[in-house]
Amino acid sequence: MREILHIQGGQCGNQIGSKFWEVICDEHGVDPTGRYKGTAAESDLQLERINVYFNEASGGRYVPRAVLMDLEPGTMDSIRSGPYGQIFRPDNFVFGQSGAGNNWAKGHYTEGAELIDAVLDVVRKEAENCDCLQGFQVCHSLGGGTGSGMGTLLISKVREEYPDRMMLTFSVFPSPKVSDTVVEPYNATLSVHQLVENADECMVLDNEALYDICFRTLKLTTPSFGDLNHLISATMSGVTCCLRFPGQLNSDLRKLAVNLIPFPRLHFFMVGFAPLTSRGSQQYISLTVPELTQQMWDAKNMMCAADPRHGRYLTASAMFRGKMSTKEVDEQMINVQNKNSSYFVEWIPNNVKSSVCDIPPTGLKMASTFVGNSTSIQEMFRRVSEQFTAMFRRKAFLHWYTGEGMDEMEFTEAESNMNDLVAEYQQYQDATADDEEEYDDEAADDPEYES
Ligand code: GDP
Repeated sequence: MREILHIQGGQCGNQIGSKFWEVICDEHGVDPTGRYKGTAAESDLQLERINVYFNEASGGRYVPRAVLMDLEPGTMDSIRSGPYGQIFRPDNFVFGQSGAGNNWAKGHYTEGAELIDAVLDVVRKEAENCDCLQGFQVCHSLGGGTGSGMGTLLISKVREEYPDRMMLTFSVFPSPKVSDTVVEPYNATLSVHQLVENADECMVLDNEALYDICFRTLKLTTPSFGDLNHLISATMSGVTCCLRFPGQLNSDLRKLAVNLIPFPRLHFFMVGFAPLTSRGSQQYISLTVPELTQQMWDAKNMMCAADPRHGRYLTASAMFRGKMSTKEVDEQMINVQNKNSSYFVEWIPNNVKSSVCDIPPTGLKMASTFVGNSTSIQEMFRRVSEQFTAMFRRKAFLHWYTGEGMDEMEFTEAESNMNDLVAEYQQYQDATADDEEEYDDEAADDPEYES
């Protein structure tokens, strides 16, 4: 078995993480007490790879391989008293009382650093129980203090201790449309600086795009976190379905990375989902394979506020779910690529992969999830970077961070690392298959090179 260890931190991380567990418990037929409730007909598919995410305790109970951390007790208290509160291992709730006050420095250097060893103890215990751990997945927001600061501290500690295991993150990027804390661009930029170096693959969940989907497509006039998190949990379920159910494509974290990451720093993925549904409305929607394909490539369905038509795809993967013809899926996918060939870099042949998993998400007959490595994601990094620079130029709010012992230098480095990342995306967006050749031709034409 190739296990994954899940860690969720901070308010947002705990909220989206616990929704993820509700959804996957349901898909694998596990009830809130951890018992299997599926039928004999379903059980093969539901249980074959259940050990990727669940431990099997005595008496046949399934227990999430999950560690929950926070610097304040509130969110975890409500998880514990919520519908699936009893499914988690009580020892795996690790929390403090101080809070991080939306300050990355408190999460990363002071309050969080005090609690991190307690979290690592639990992580180690879970890792030791694994037969062959493939890696970790972390759920967190980048705009606050705990998920962002302490989350990235945890990622760097885990990387140090388990350098050859994969590190996947579900990272929620901040948007002023959803939040009113002004320092979020600071926290997010400091986090991206860490994620570029210490994470292997990051699924970008951008609150700006999630808000727009709720408002424009789902016509919700005042979207709540619950509405945004519904989109997130559907996406997380879709992204992980190849890891959880039997199949060939992207069946573990490393294979996913190998298919999607041509250059190690460019590991931030746009994810899309179809059909888009609001809470409670999914059973009315039923789409055909061509409709699913069309929607999942649509900019409006991306969970990241960047338009793929402003860039090019380095790589992409599509996971279809439900009963459908594999042949039709392949035809539709080829069709999209042929019609839009200029949006795919020509120097990575066959850079789009697709797969079909028999089990649809609950409430839908068919669905599809898209994971793309698009150079257009630089638009989102540019947005955060502009907000960062506007404040940093005047050193606004810096005292909150230096007060926790941080050096201004770390801000400068984080800023330039993110700007470099943007430049790298641009470089590969502009690169063509014959760059190299042109260079050689020029060299040949250059009189200097004549013998
Ligand atoms: P932490 O507890 O210190 O990690 O702080 P938060 O997780 O509250 O981080 C604040 C950021 O997360 C802001 O950008 C919020 O908009 C966002 N956020 C907080 N809760 C949620 C949530 O439940 N869902 C989503 N999508 N975003 C959230």
